[in-house]
Amino acid sequence: MYEQDSVESELFLPIRGMASEFEREPGTAAQQQGPRYYLKSTGGSSNGRGGLNVYVSNRRSSFCEQQQQQHGGDSFKFRDFLKSKLFVSILIIGAVFVTLICIGFVVTYERDNDVTQTIDVWRDKLSPEQYVWFENGLDELKKALTVQTNTKRAKNVILFVGDGMGPNSVTAARIFKHGEGGKLSWENFPHMGLLKTYSMDKQVPDSSSTATALFGGVKANYETNGVDSAVSLGDCRTSLNKSHHVESILYWAQKAGKGTGFVTTTRVTHATPASLFANVADRRWECDATMPEEAKNLGCLDIAQQLVEEEPGKKLNVIMGGGRQCLVSGVEATDIDPIDTWSCNSKDGRNLIETWKQDKVDKELTFAVLQNNSDLINFDASVEHVLGVFANGHLAYDHNRNKGDSGMPSLEQMTTAALRVLRRHQKGFFLVVESGMIDQAHHRGLAKQALTEVSAMDDAVAATVKIMQRELDDTLIIVTADHAHTLSINGYPEKGKSVFDIAQNSKADVVPYTTLTYATGGPDGFQMELDGEGKIRRKDPSLDDTESYSYVQQVGVVTDENTHGGVDVAVHAIGPMAHLFHCVHENSYVAHVISYAARIGRFRDSSAAGAFFDLLGFS
Ligand SMILES: [Zn+2]
Repeated sequence: MYEQDSVESELFLPIRGMASEFEREPGTAAQQQGPRYYLKSTGGSSNGRGGLNVYVSNRRSSFCEQQQQQHGGDSFKFRDFLKSKLFVSILIIGAVFVTLICIGFVVTYERDNDVTQTIDVWRDKLSPEQYVWFENGLDELKKALTVQTNTKRAKNVILFVGDGMGPNSVTAARIFKHGEGGKLSWENFPHMGLLKTYSMDKQVPDSSSTATALFGGVKANYETNGVDSAVSLGDCRTSLNKSHHVESILYWAQKAGKGTGFVTTTRVTHATPASLFANVADRRWECDATMPEEAKNLGCLDIAQQLVEEEPGKKLNVIMGGGRQCLVSGVEATDIDPIDTWSCNSKDGRNLIETWKQDKVDKELTFAVLQNNSDLINFDASVEHVLGVFANGHLAYDHNRNKGDSGMPSLEQMTTAALRVLRRHQKGFFLVVESGMIDQAHHRGLAKQALTEVSAMDDAVAATVKIMQRELDDTLIIVTADHAHTLSINGYPEKGKSVFDIAQNSKADVVPYTTLTYATGGPDGFQMELDGEGKIRRKDPSLDDTESYSYVQQVGVVTDENTHGGVDVAVHAIGPMAHLFHCVHENSYVAHVISYAARIGRFRDSSAAGAFFDLLGFS
């Protein structure tokens, strides 16, 4: 039965572990030759063991033997391989690799909620269109990761207020001046938040009540200055009660020995600056001519009087703006400097500029009175007090103003001049800068003038940051607004187009409309006309020069003038405690941040002696 190369051989199965049983079989050469044992199925029983017979063979040349030898050879090679340097090297590399993966896993696991401040970027292949935005995002990330909180004391505080500069005005001005991808100077500040602007009695406020909140930390009633909500509009009697006077940050700064000042492009007696130094029941009481007789008889003082004759106004180191007609009776109008017929024009024979000068003479203080560009450029900034009155009413729009020697300065020029005076104060200073003509232009529906005023404020902020560059560590600079206007940025103009251009055609009547319109506005914005069929339809603005500074944007609701808007305004900050602007705040919070950062007002430093004198009422 034993055949080489037979079919049977394919059925042979090697049996391991049987050698000892068969080693005792006689007459074999198995012990010398290394016998092979096989089971072979026979399909029947020839030796009483059933169908499984065991054969012993010494033959070495069978197919099965060759197979066996071959297997034995492979085992030998594999064992050699296991002992080889190559295998050991692979084993070590593998172990290191697995270890690194494990470390990576652990590190990743630990980092799960703690991304480190190093930026590792996988340089994935991106299309140019995507790459530019990933790089942009990377740049912004790098800047954001370097933002630090400055918890130092603010020696100096500069507060910029864009009157009526809501977020819509800021976006439109940004596109106008720097394009969609640009930034206004304060938009580079590291910290920002939003301010709610409502007053105590109005969902949408006016400038005097919001200024009281910003500068005094207390919300007040519509059109009142420097008094709390117990004083309603026009209530002179209650406004005389000093317990309802709201002390402004200006007063706190003066008590702390700091230099103080404000500059504005409006009258120095106008709604916003008035809340710094006046306590008055009606913002219209800028001078004698608009004061009701009853209020005069009760002893209420107009805003101009309070500025020049009362504290903290008379202690101001810098006063700059317009409003000569409120300070001096009988001023003359000129073509470039008209009398503002909308506001108070003094008639009681006063000359509060002379009164202001005499007060400084009496106190032996150095001073300067400035009335035009030439005065501003040439004055000696070492004086202790400066009164700059550059216009009868408000200053002219920045685009329109006479820039010559006899003309009016820009907001930037006034701001830098104010800084020259105030920076010499050893204990630091507090300066308020108001860009007031943003509001005035919006009220008249003149969007391009308004955005040009925002642009002028951009210049003033940039110049200030540059001047204060070496003192930014202890100078808190805040840029915000008192309220918004109902300016609308409409869909869907192409990117890169002038923001004053046509956006597209109306899908209702196919008449083009401009990117900028106002929701509310005066009669000039009501631009409807009869068509050939006698139907009323909106005028096609593409027939007008919408790029003109005198172009009035179309309005939705016609009233006497464009109204304020009720949306929140942004507040941007840099310097000590700037990070305290971080979410949605009340506008009154601004005064408290300044007070805390500069350690003045209720957050002033205290000493035992100071506390004692406070108790005695000598504070
Ligand atoms: Zn206004």
